[in-house]
Amino acid sequence: MFDVIIIGGGAAGFFTAIQIAEQNSDLKVAILERGKTVLAKVKVSGGGRCNVTHAEFNPADLVLNYPRGEKELLGPFHTFCTGDTMAFFEERGVPLKIEEDGRIFPQSDSSQSIIDCFINETERLGIKVMKLCPVSNISYAVTDNPDLGFLVTTPKKEFQTKKVVVATGSNPKIWNLLEGLGHTIIPPVPSLFTFNIKDSRITDIPGVSTTARVTVFASKSNTTELSSKIKTAVRKKPLLEAEGPLLITHWGMSGPAILKLSAWGATLLHSKNYQFVVQVNWLPDMVPGAVLEYLSSVKETDPKKTILRTKILDIPRRLWVNLVKAADIDETVKWAGATKTQLQNLADQLTESEFSVNGKSTFKEEFVTAGGIDLKEVNFKTYESKIAKNLYFAGEVINVDAITGGFNFQNAWTGGFMAAQAISKLG
Ligand SMILES: Cc1cc2nc3c(=O)[nH]c(=O)nc-3n(C[C@H](O)[C@H](O)[C@H](O)COP(=O)(O)OP(=O)(O)OC[C@H]3O[C@@H](n4cnc5c(N)ncnc54)[C@H](O)[C@@H]3O)c2cc1C
Repeated sequence: MFDVIIIGGGAAGFFTAIQIAEQNSDLKVAILERGKTVLAKVKVSGGGRCNVTHAEFNPADLVLNYPRGEKELLGPFHTFCTGDTMAFFEERGVPLKIEEDGRIFPQSDSSQSIIDCFINETERLGIKVMKLCPVSNISYAVTDNPDLGFLVTTPKKEFQTKKVVVATGSNPKIWNLLEGLGHTIIPPVPSLFTFNIKDSRITDIPGVSTTARVTVFASKSNTTELSSKIKTAVRKKPLLEAEGPLLITHWGMSGPAILKLSAWGATLLHSKNYQFVVQVNWLPDMVPGAVLEYLSSVKETDPKKTILRTKILDIPRRLWVNLVKAADIDETVKWAGATKTQLQNLADQLTESEFSVNGKSTFKEEFVTAGGIDLKEVNFKTYESKIAKNLYFAGEVINVDAITGGFNFQNAWTGGFMAAQAISKLG
């Protein structure tokens, strides 16, 4: 018989257990983990370095990094935010460092520091961690009387507990089980992926990185029935847009701008079976009309130089060469000899290059699943289910996910803290 059973020995499960035991040492707490090892994702996270959180300390700005959960997380972040995460680890002997882009890692650059911290804390606080305990059922001990606790079933044993915290990440079996208890599950789809693109403008330049604006418009096929005027208007209205560093890879495009788009468009791009067109503006700081004007002015200032060899704008040289070629300008054409059409083509390539995406690849440093327990069914003051009393959630099991950068773990820490606060008070 336990006071609290936490299902799932991942980031959210461990953090919740530690917070409960810390806040109320009278409670008997156990973690049930289906695998042989606990904290497996923490181990591989951030390329083995574990990006624990992000240096964004204002809750109102922090929530902007969550395509799903933005509204719901605002209150919880006012209670437990990124600074609290930093304090938690540093007070427990894990010094952290903030990198230039805001990502926060252990100074050791090893996720093992985070794992050791969690394991030491569970031992110190007397939390029972049971491995190879896959939970196959959760039910009230006495039907229709949630105050008499739960029965939690595993193949070897049945456990009794007053409260249950589900922290199983994106596990379909547990979602099915929760559906059985009356919850709605938003269908899971992958988030945080890179785009597969085969295109002569980028195939020979992997490793090139630059700032760009990437846009997905309504596809042509969706507008075939419409008049050309409406079609243009529909095409002009972006469905998704993101700006930031874009990295050209052997397979296509990656980098923060692409990952952001993949997170915000997780459901939409899944519905398109990852076949869509992106428009890339390689000069996001310039007004599109101004680019043509500028190119025309170079005709006057540098008439004798060849276009291919004069990189006049702030984009990587090898990309400039490929875009010039794509604009039908061969290597002998000088600025003075460029036709109006060639300059227009070049301006279009620089600000409105279209690329066909044909599939996605996993971003190895971090990925998550969008979908999970419907946010409407969770009380975000306590992380208790609104459907089943004494049942709580933390982490990726809920329909919350974020862009890359430490925000996904922050969701696990904040949810764990909120659930623990509610449970330990009631305890
Ligand atoms: C490769 C990779 C790298 C990442 N890097 C980062 C990063 O650097 N920073 C960041 O913020 N986010 C990162 N993420 C995302 C982050 O790992 C997740 O958001 C986070 O782990 C979610 O925590 P969780 O506890 O909710 O789920 P999980 O970590 O998935 O833990 C769930 C646990 O529940 C267990 N479980 C499932 N079903 C059962 C069952 N029936 N019975 C018992 N146990 C069960 C699982 O075995 C697992 O141990 C990364 C993800 C991946 C895949």
